[in-house]
Amino acid sequence: MQIPQAISTLASAFANAVASSRAKGASHRALIVVACLSVLSACTTSPTGRSQLMLISPESAIVQSKQAYLSTVGELGKENKLVDDPRMADRVATITGRLVTEAIAMYPNTADWEWSVAIIDDDETVNAWCMAGGRMAAYTGLFEQLQLTDDEFAQIMGHEISHALANHTAERMSRAIAINVGVIAAGVASDHHGAAMAGAAVAAKLALELPNSRVAEAEADRIGIELAARAGYRADAAVTLWEKMGSLSEERPPEFMSTHPAPENRQAALQALVPEMRALNPTGTKAAISPVTIVR
Ligand SMILES: [Zn+2]
Repeated sequence: MQIPQAISTLASAFANAVASSRAKGASHRALIVVACLSVLSACTTSPTGRSQLMLISPESAIVQSKQAYLSTVGELGKENKLVDDPRMADRVATITGRLVTEAIAMYPNTADWEWSVAIIDDDETVNAWCMAGGRMAAYTGLFEQLQLTDDEFAQIMGHEISHALANHTAERMSRAIAINVGVIAAGVASDHHGAAMAGAAVAAKLALELPNSRVAEAEADRIGIELAARAGYRADAAVTLWEKMGSLSEERPPEFMSTHPAPENRQAALQALVPEMRALNPTGTKAAISPVTIVR
């Protein structure tokens, strides 16, 4: 068996096993823990050449993220928290659709992703995210509190899409699983049966709460500013966006800042990229708009 295949088999066996771990004996759980710890060193390489901890394959991350996404937006729909304003939906679908066109051009394997955005009616939350497989969310707090231009919104969504393109979802899910392996190990050691954990879809949800690493942030900044520039949006909006985020954090730190910790010199690094990015699309020609589903 190839090593990546072995890892993916173990990861899915792990996901299935932990889902029913309440029903299994402690010895079985111990075996699961051993199996998982033995793949903890599993690594792959990110698009920028960095090695990544991967307990779950990118394909599996997409499947589990879909499940987590449908459950999350289903709940939001029931609570009447999905925005159904046609103008807002059109603005989000247009800007995101142009970014998706460039994402597919750079990463052709994403052409069959089910690209979609849920616009969440929550003016208090300044946040956005994109799961593996192109399933996104943007909170109305972004628009309400930052008065985003189209160029700045393109930078946010370009950054979020880049997290998915660079397999950061699978990486964060792997960390969520690794953290919970510890929980299971503690449960086995103390023979507490309350330590049972749900499956990998829960890891996908938990992963959204975990901060990205600063290295992952720098990767998403780099890929995101390029996506936006190629899609026809101003590269210097990446800098003004972070200025706005920064001024907001003095009063009340946005959710975005806790899940997207700033790499050192983020603004300077983005500023330094601006001339190179402008040169990619000097006339700012807008890209074609790929279909993006606005989840209602
Ligand atoms: Zn980020």
